[in-house]
Order: sequence, then structure tokens, then C-alpha cells
Amino acid sequence: MPGAQPDRGADGQAAADLDRADEPSAPSGQGAGDDATPDADDNASSGAHDGDDLVVHFLDVGQADATLLVQGETTVLIDTGRYQADDVVEALTSLGIETIELLIVTHPHADHIGQFDQLVDAVTITETWWSGATTTSLTFGRALDALERSGAAYEEPRAGDAAQVGQLLIEVVNPPVGIELTDLHDSGLAVRVTYGSFRVLFTGDAEAPTERRMVASDPALLEAEVLQVGHHGSRSSTVPEFLAAVSPAVAVYSAGADNAYDHPHPEVLERLQAADVEVYGTDTHGTVAITTDGHNWSVHTGW
Ligand SMILES: [Zn+2]
Ligand SMILES: [Zn+2]
Repeated sequence: MPGAQPDRGADGQAAADLDRADEPSAPSGQGAGDDATPDADDNASSGAHDGDDLVVHFLDVGQADATLLVQGETTVLIDTGRYQADDVVEALTSLGIETIELLIVTHPHADHIGQFDQLVDAVTITETWWSGATTTSLTFGRALDALERSGAAYEEPRAGDAAQVGQLLIEVVNPPVGIELTDLHDSGLAVRVTYGSFRVLFTGDAEAPTERRMVASDPALLEAEVLQVGHHGSRSSTVPEFLAAVSPAVAVYSAGADNAYDHPHPEVLERLQAADVEVYGTDTHGTVAITTDGHNWSVHTGW
């Protein structure tokens, strides 16, 4: 729906006349993935894959989030890195990507929406999903200006919505219908991406109360082989009951080396280790890539 965009006002209310996202698809989770064990492989030379593979790139963008999913001709980007940087644009350019079928902005903080404006000028964005929450920051203002000139279809999906993008199933886990948009993290978009039997969960900067609400709402919708650790590994997030519901084999956090926020927090790393989750971080591993044919999957670093 081009033209339907968040209000610029600071009252936290977004435009109310948007269509909902596409009708929910039937969930594809049928106990899949039991034998799809991770095959940690730091040797990039063995990471050859054919064009049908999905590659999930947790981009090394410092203290920020940007995850690029490429499968065949389909490109999905979740968050756009930090402002005053161009590393996300550079990564897409180096991969020869000219179109993003779906760009999901989890919430309008500057470390998630930072390069939205540059992306609009660098590539074609077919559709973009935002939470609908607003801020008064200059970065958000620039992003809104860019949204207006992008021509991208705009949606504010809610939990229970789903869309098929190429061969990727995108299921919305948060926020629930009727959410107040006052708390940018609580109202942020969380999505699960499924390719074959492989699932990866993104919760943006969702914190403990939001995680608990997701668990109470539909824990099966959280199950995933790979979890992007919430809020850059902050101790505000990844509560044990949430981790138990997701039950990932691998977790990846995005954080800058020597950042000022104590991300990732040692408590969170201990929780992940106690749950036998293999942990990767962009601060220590650089860009982390996960390659999957929809069944088997492997982790690659050093790309
Ligand atoms: Zn945030
Ligand atoms: Zn953040």
C-alpha cells in the first residue's frame, strides 16, 4: 500500500487505515528439523552452495542490527544498521543485490533504521514492514522521507499475519493486534523465517515482558533452529522460558566490539551455554552466515 505511512507526530499513533498484511498462511512447522543438526564450519572454502540455498547473513555492522537473507532471486533484509555508517549498503552492493523484496524494520531506533534512507537510494525496495511506532529523532525523520520517495508497499503487520516471499515463509510473532505503540521495544516486529524445515527467529530488541507475552501467546510459533539473540545480547532479554520455547541449536548476537552497553551480557551467554546453544557474535566472528538447503544447515564465519 504505497502512500500509507506512519504519522510524523510524536503521539505514538500511526496511521490507522492500513490494510492488514496478507492472509496468514498455514503454518508449515510439523516437527521438522529433528535431524537437521548444525554443522559448524569455519572454513569458508567448504561453504560452496548452489542457487537454491538460503544464506542468512548476520552482517557485522558494529553496535546495530542488519540481517540479510538471500534465496535464489529473493532478498529479505531485517533492519538496516546504524546511522552515520554505510556498511549495510556496502554489503548489499558487494553481493550485487539490486532489489529487496521485503525490508523489515523491527523498530525505529537509530541502530535498526539507521541506513534505511541510503538503502532507498541504492536499491529497489518492493515492500517494507514497520511496527508503526514513531520517534522524533532526525534519523527517523530521514527514514520517513526516504519511505515517501521509495514507492515501496508499506505494511504494519501483527502477530498471526504471515507472508510468502519467494520460497520463504515469514510469520509475524510480535506485536499483537491492538498493541500500544508507546514502547518501541515492546511494540517491535518479531518474525520467524522458514525455508523448508529450517527456521530462524528475529525479535529485534524485545525485552523480557515481551518475550514472556510471546511464550504465553503461541510458543510453537517461536520454535527455531537459529535464534538471533534479542537486544544485542542485553541482560534485558533472552529469559529462560523464552529460550526454552525457541529451543535453538545456534544463537547469533549482533554487537559492536568493546561497546558501551555491556552487550552481550555474561548472564545471557551463561544462559545460552547452559541450554547447550552454540553462540556466535558479530563482535568476535565478524559477519556470521548460515547456509541451508532447507534441511541441512551450517554456520560459516570469516566471510
Ligand atoms: Zn532498540
Ligand atoms: Zn538495538
